[in-house]
Amino acid sequence: MIDFKPTQEQLELQKMAKKFAREVIRPAELAIDKMQNPDEAYASPEFRNTLRQAYELGFHKMTINVQHGGLGLDPLSAALVWEELAVGGVGIPATLLAGMVAPAFLSVLAGGKKELIEKHVVPYCDDTKAEHISAWGSSEGNIGSDGSNYYDPCVHHETSAKKEGSEYVITGAKSSFVSNGSIADLFLVFACVDPSKGIKGSGVFLVPLGQGVERGKSMDKLGMRALNQGEVCFDGARIPEGNMIMPPGDNYPTIHNAIKTVGNIGVGYLAVGLMRAAYEEALQYAKERVQFGKPIFQHQAIGFRLFEAYQAIEAARGLLWKASWTLANKFMGDLKLSAAARVFATNLAMKHTVEMVQILGGYGISKEYNLEKYMRDAKLLQIMDATNEIMTIKGMAML
Ligand SMILES: Cc1cc2nc3c(=O)[nH]c(=O)nc-3n(C[C@H](O)[C@H](O)[C@H](O)COP(=O)(O)OP(=O)(O)OC[C@H]3O[C@@H](n4cnc5c(N)ncnc54)[C@H](O)[C@@H]3O)c2cc1C
Repeated sequence: MIDFKPTQEQLELQKMAKKFAREVIRPAELAIDKMQNPDEAYASPEFRNTLRQAYELGFHKMTINVQHGGLGLDPLSAALVWEELAVGGVGIPATLLAGMVAPAFLSVLAGGKKELIEKHVVPYCDDTKAEHISAWGSSEGNIGSDGSNYYDPCVHHETSAKKEGSEYVITGAKSSFVSNGSIADLFLVFACVDPSKGIKGSGVFLVPLGQGVERGKSMDKLGMRALNQGEVCFDGARIPEGNMIMPPGDNYPTIHNAIKTVGNIGVGYLAVGLMRAAYEEALQYAKERVQFGKPIFQHQAIGFRLFEAYQAIEAARGLLWKASWTLANKFMGDLKLSAAARVFATNLAMKHTVEMVQILGGYGISKEYNLEKYMRDAKLLQIMDATNEIMTIKGMAML
C-alpha cells in the first residue's frame, strides 16, 4: 500500500526544481530580502527575471489541467517540486502558488465557461515571460479569520457585487495582505451579493485589472519579502455577469474548505523546504565551527538540536505526503488531515528555524548568514491563508 519510490519523471522534476532553487531562487531571495523599498524590489530584475525563468520552466502551471495548457501534475509530483523550490526561499514559490489559485480554480470549477478559460487560463499557461500574475482576495480590513465564519449571519464581506443589467459592479477593498495584490493583472474576488446571508451571501468573481481597479502599494514586512502583498481597491469595476465563477449559497463552505485543503498542503511544503534550508546550513556550520577544541556538532547540545530538526523535516513531510495522497485519491481531499499537516509543519518550521539560529550563536543573527532570514520567513507561514489557530479550530471541530 505504501511506496516511497519516486518515478523517473518525478526524479527529473525534483532535480530541475533543486537546481533552479539553489542557482536562481536563493540568490534572488537574498537580494530582494535586503532591498529597502518593496515597490522597487518587485520591479527589480532579481524579482522579475526569477519569475520569468520560473514561468519558462512551467512552475507557474504545474497542477493546471493539460487541456487548458497546464502540466497536469498530480498532487504528489507537485509536492516534490514545491518542497525543493522552497529550499531556495519561500517568497518566490509563494508568489507562484498564490498566482496559480485563480487559473487553477477556473480550470477546475468553471469547466463549462469555455470563454473565460480561453481568455484567462490559456494565455496564463502559455506565458513564458511572467506577464500574467494573478491574486485572490478574501481578506479585508474587517474580515480576516472571519472569512470562514459562515455560520454567523452578521459577518459579511464589505466588498460588494451588485447586479446591473448583464454586469456586476464590484466596490470595496481587499486587505493589504493579498499575495501579489500590487503586481497582479487578474483578481479572484470574494464579494458580497446578499449581506443578509452572511459570508454565505458572497460569490467569487473574476476581475481583470482595468477601469475601477486600483492596486495599492507593496507592503513592507518582516519576512517572505520576495512575496508581494498589497491592497486592491475596487471602485465600481464592471465585469460581465459570466465572470461570477461561484454563486453565493450553501456550497460556499464546501468550496472554501476545498480551497483551504489545497492551500494548507502548499503552505506545509513551503515550511518543510524552509526547515531543510535552515537545517542544511546549520549542520554544515556546526561541523566546521570549533569551540572547546572540537566542532560544535560534537557538543551534544548542538547535535541533539540538529537531530531534532531532521526528525521534524521527515515527520512533517510524511504527514504532508499522506495529505497529498488523499487529495489525489479522494474527491476534494481531507481538510482535517491537511490542517493537521499544515499546522504541524509550520509550527515546526518556526521552532526549528529559531533553534538553527541558536546553533550559529552570534553569527545566527548576523545578515552575513541566511539563518535570521529563515526565522523571519517562518513566522508568516503560521499566518498565511488562515492562522494556525483557525486551522486548529477547524481541524478540532472535525475530530
Ligand atoms: C503571507 C501571507 C499571505 C496572505 N495572502 C493572502 C491572500 O492571498 N489573499 C487574502 O485574501 N488574504 C491573504 N492573507 C491574509 C490572511 O488570510 C489573514 O492574515 C488571516 O486569515 C488572518 O486574518 P487577520 O490577519 O485579519 O487576523 P485576525 O483574524 O484579526 O486574527 C488576529 C489573531 O486572533 C486570532 N483569532 C481570530 N479569531 C479567533 C478565534 N475564533 N479563536 C481563536 N483565535 C482567533 C488569530 O489566530 C490571530 O492570532 C495573507 C496573509 C499572510 C500573512
